[in-house]
Amino acid sequence: MPVSAKKRASKQHTRGKKTSKGGSTRIASAKKSPRYIDNMNPATMKLINRLPVCTEADVENAVAAARSAYSSWSSLPPEDRADALDRLREQLVKDMQEMIDTICEETGKTEMDGLVEIFTVCEHLKYVASRGPQLLADEKRSTGIFIHKKAYITYQSRGVIGVISPWNYPLILTLSPIMQGLMAGNTVVVKPSEITPNTSLKLREIATRSGLPENVLKVVTGFGETGAALVASKGTDMICFTGSTATGRRIGEICGRMLKPVILELGGKDPMIICADANLDRAVNGAIWGSFSNSGQTCISVERIFVEESVYEEFMQKIREKARGIKQGLRENHPSVGSMTFEKQVGIVKTHLADAEKKGARIELCGDRPPGLAGLFLNPLIVTNVQSDMQIMQEESFGPLVAIMKFRDEDHAVELANNTVYGLNASVWSCDLDKAKRIARRIHSGSICINDVDVNYIVSDLPFGGTKESGIGRVYGPEGLRAFTNPQSVTVDRAGIFGITKEIHWFPYTERKLNILKKTVRWLFG
Ligand code: NAD
Repeated sequence: MPVSAKKRASKQHTRGKKTSKGGSTRIASAKKSPRYIDNMNPATMKLINRLPVCTEADVENAVAAARSAYSSWSSLPPEDRADALDRLREQLVKDMQEMIDTICEETGKTEMDGLVEIFTVCEHLKYVASRGPQLLADEKRSTGIFIHKKAYITYQSRGVIGVISPWNYPLILTLSPIMQGLMAGNTVVVKPSEITPNTSLKLREIATRSGLPENVLKVVTGFGETGAALVASKGTDMICFTGSTATGRRIGEICGRMLKPVILELGGKDPMIICADANLDRAVNGAIWGSFSNSGQTCISVERIFVEESVYEEFMQKIREKARGIKQGLRENHPSVGSMTFEKQVGIVKTHLADAEKKGARIELCGDRPPGLAGLFLNPLIVTNVQSDMQIMQEESFGPLVAIMKFRDEDHAVELANNTVYGLNASVWSCDLDKAKRIARRIHSGSICINDVDVNYIVSDLPFGGTKESGIGRVYGPEGLRAFTNPQSVTVDRAGIFGITKEIHWFPYTERKLNILKKTVRWLFG
């Protein structure tokens, strides 16, 4: 049996070493990448297909092709680019089952989790295409004291955008930056995760069927070195990276050295705060979906639950009851939880569990799974008796497990929730909305839901991104779309048209001008 990318990549992920020799922007590796990706189905461990690993030269060719398409694509009226995105959305809906099958086959997801990907990108495509032209239109600004001038912003496209995506939502996290990049007038080169390359290749196929020009969107497959070549290429004008904090930090360093704009969408350790006056049944249902859907491999999944001590026992009883019946298994049996996607992640989860157990945590096995499955299946797990110094409370686990802890009062809940290097998403549950909003304001996270979980990600008008080590920059909403542009500030003076040849502060400087300006300052600002 061939060695799978899902196994092989776990070694690749740990062996990238940065070199600063001669200011190089390369990521050095102890060994060279394999020449092929053997893409496996993690639910069955069967080989799906074998794909090439693109070299630095392949990346440069793709970037050059995207550059060749840039001039015509960027000069299209925004409405025409929006039409192209509408056609892509319609084609994706037509080919929905084909796409879901591709996603599920290489991730081990349930069909529902595959469908969530389609639903999410369609909602974002609709927003970007319908609001894009307006959000990218020139925007008038005040000229302040210069009442005789005009000022506005034009949202210029940047050029060729390099998109690097992870394996946990291979469609959403690839197509989202693509659609924003394209809408803003850029062309795009994508390096999908080596664990889930087929989804991006299927997307490219569907985009072609929808009529999107070939070179406007290019896909290069490969491991970290292929991504590193895209980052280091002088031909990419911006990088949008979604993945781990460790890789994001390396990419950020290289972009910093090259002064290349970068968006970093990184890891999380999201807290859920449940107050005594919350609707506990809704909170329990939100908790198990937020923790275990997609096998917990969601950057915004609930990893830590904090429950007010007066309702802790009641909450625990309810969550144990609900979690016990969660069906797990192969997609054709319509389970709620599928397999894990990436073997390295299974190892991380097991390490966190061993650390927690050694330090006195109690681990409860939930879920219901048929015996004898060959794939990367992990039971949903509830972990109690946890302490803040455990890995499970500090590091991203990214698996179907959740740690639960009591809190005394609001201050204690806020302190516990903020006690991590991450700040991606969070949620607060209380029927007293003033209290929930008060707590939400004190949580350090890019987004937060009140009495809901993760839904903010599909609210297209809201920006999304992290604080602290969860990332830099935003995608989605007006802020996200405009992040794929260079906002050029323009001022216009018409005095010259009417024969005025000078401003008062231009040469030559004279005592008279100085006195006039001093008086003006006193009159205006004194
Ligand atoms: P990863 O960082 O290992 O890999 C992500 C991508 O980066 C892959 O395509 C990989 O090939 C590429 N890569 C690896 N090394 C590189 C390098 N040196 N230069 C350029 N590219 C390189 O992450 P992963 O394991 O694929 O994804 C899981 C992580 O992604 C989790 O931490 C999760 O929280 C995070 N994530 C964040 C968001 C978000 O929106 N904030 C969304 C989903 C996932």
